[in-house]
Amino acid sequence: MEPDGRTTARKHLRAVIVAAAPEESARWADAAREDVSLSAHHALGLHEALRIVAERELDVAIIAPHVADGSYRDLLRRLQVAREDLPVVLVGDLEPDAMHDAFALGAADIVAQPELLRLGQALVRAVRDGTLSAQLRNARAQNALLDETLRRTREDVVVVGIEGGESTVVYATRHDLIGRPITELPFVRDGEEAEELSAAVAGCRSTRLTFASGAIAVEPLAAPPHDRHYVAIVHERGGRVALEERDPVTGLPQRSTFERLAQRVLAEADREGVSVAVLFLDVDRFHVVNELAGHRTGDRVLREIATRLREALPAAHVARFGGDEFVVLRLEDEPGIARSATQAAAGAFAAPFIVADKPVYLTASIGVALAPDDATDVAGLIGTAEAAVFEAKRLGRNTVRWYRSSGGSASLERVAMRRDLQGAIERGEFDVYYQPIYDIGTHVIQGVEALVRWRHPLHGMIQPDRFIPVAEECGLIEELGAWVLEQSIAQVRTWADAGIPGIRVSVNVSARQLESNAFPGLVRILLERYQVAAQYLEIEITESSIMRDVGAAARLLRRLRELGVRVAIDDFGTGYTSLAFLKRFPIDQLKIDRSFVVDVTAGAFDGAVIRAVTTLARALGVQTVAEGVELPEQVERLRALDCDFVQGFLFSEPMPAAACTVLLAAGRAG
Ligand code: C2E
Ligand code: CA
Ligand code: CA
Repeated sequence: MEPDGRTTARKHLRAVIVAAAPEESARWADAAREDVSLSAHHALGLHEALRIVAERELDVAIIAPHVADGSYRDLLRRLQVAREDLPVVLVGDLEPDAMHDAFALGAADIVAQPELLRLGQALVRAVRDGTLSAQLRNARAQNALLDETLRRTREDVVVVGIEGGESTVVYATRHDLIGRPITELPFVRDGEEAEELSAAVAGCRSTRLTFASGAIAVEPLAAPPHDRHYVAIVHERGGRVALEERDPVTGLPQRSTFERLAQRVLAEADREGVSVAVLFLDVDRFHVVNELAGHRTGDRVLREIATRLREALPAAHVARFGGDEFVVLRLEDEPGIARSATQAAAGAFAAPFIVADKPVYLTASIGVALAPDDATDVAGLIGTAEAAVFEAKRLGRNTVRWYRSSGGSASLERVAMRRDLQGAIERGEFDVYYQPIYDIGTHVIQGVEALVRWRHPLHGMIQPDRFIPVAEECGLIEELGAWVLEQSIAQVRTWADAGIPGIRVSVNVSARQLESNAFPGLVRILLERYQVAAQYLEIEITESSIMRDVGAAARLLRRLRELGVRVAIDDFGTGYTSLAFLKRFPIDQLKIDRSFVVDVTAGAFDGAVIRAVTTLARALGVQTVAEGVELPEQVERLRALDCDFVQGFLFSEPMPAAACTVLLAAGRAG
């Protein structure tokens, strides 16, 4: 055993050292050998380094900020092109900006000259983390590939994965297929078909199988050795299955059918040189109907809307895209569209619907896009119309929005919102909701996340995703953020006074707040004012706001930690946080973004991203929270993937303080 307690053998590393002078290079090698066994190749410049990288097996590169034929920027870029997965450790004293720059360019670590004795350990960690980040990258790339495949495929898509030799469907566009064995796919009829499909998948073959019930093309999506997933794309399905392509509620075509049809119409329009219009209709506040009168009535109203739409626009194709979304397509010239949109709106929504024996008036927001002006392909056209409808909704519903003008209208809305935000705090329009965070093992509430709500006097409850960006833009976020912080800290005191001590509150802080030097001071004052110990406050910062200004974020995090406040990285996995950054700055928790939690039960890649994050977290000694947990299956998987905490609708939605108090009190009692 070595004096400091390490028992393991020294790690052997093969390195290229790129320095400006041979003495320097030798000094670094000696320093590293304090901790590792190192075989070093020395290079006195970029070109020599590239030659070595091309010829040798290497684990790591050690570089100077400047060599004769290049700077650290050139070195990082060129080395990465030559060998993407080679971790690079920079040795030298850099200004904070240059450090940020080097991390952003992919440096695994930076060792300043005075800390040279740390070099060996830095190399070991860089190599280990390199493997981790490669896994994370790989998992992300696979997810991106899957997303892309799903997005681009017009057919129904089924991803088949092999688990323990058994072929299981782990992802399918139709919800009810998820997690079923292959034999239960609706288009696979008997044992023989199932065998054929399994064999194709197992053999990693791109193939086409024809079954009695239809034809199916099987394509490997990714085939790393432990993680085999295949996309089976279903074409030309037979009668039994084709029936399902119509929406059972309204009898209208569903998205996939509609897209095929749109394809044909577009081609025809292109040949004849005419335009095609797509209207995307989203019924405003349709959920109210369901809530008031139940789903059966909701379905009846949807059927009625479908009928009215078809009657109002007899020459158009109408489809239902799910929920309360309808899409209308027709050959049309520009002036015709406005007419169609008005006709659709008037025809379908002018008369009331009967809900619970009462007449109810509904409205719709309509987004309009035109081919070939706004887009030339189906996906682009639908996406554009959808973006326009989104703007229409933001504008306050019951409106028609042209894609072309929606850029302008978005800023119009922002102007209005900005105006309404002024003075909203004084008018008491904001409220803080709290969402509990649970220990995954014991289901005991560990803390709560504070989430701000805006009760707009005209538009009702507005979600933070919509107004926070506006508040940031117009500088109101500091005031609002300070208000949320004070409410949250005061709430911890209120709970403690009510006999519920030890509740930790997590408060979201936006990038703008981080930039203010006054923030840590405010935190300290508020903690004192309400006599709350710093450990009961956690600040959530997103990855992207850290990366916006690494230097500032680092300073702020340090000051917060000096106070004893905890720090969590929010939406982890969606942005790029350098692992070296995470290691060097004090962090208590990583919050795994909801998108990865969703993937866990979609089966896509078995939560590889989450596994990479929890492994990383263990290595860093920080805890992990999975956000947006909605299904019991997700909890099981997350537990298996070593997550510490869970937060999501499955356990509790964000709720007003009073409701949360009841829940907390009950939790403490039982
Ligand atoms: P976030 O920090 O990622 O907060 C989590 C969001 O996920 C919340 O949305 C929460 O209601 C939602 N959520 C929780 N569980 C589930 C689930 O099981 N399923 C789904 N689909 N969603 C779930 P919310 O409250 O709308 O907040 C949105 C974002 O607005 C927050 O995202 C945060 O970035 C920001 N935000 C909220 N309050 C504040 C604040 O006081 N200050 C700042 N700067 N940003 C805030
Ligand atoms: Ca958060
Ligand atoms: Ca989050």
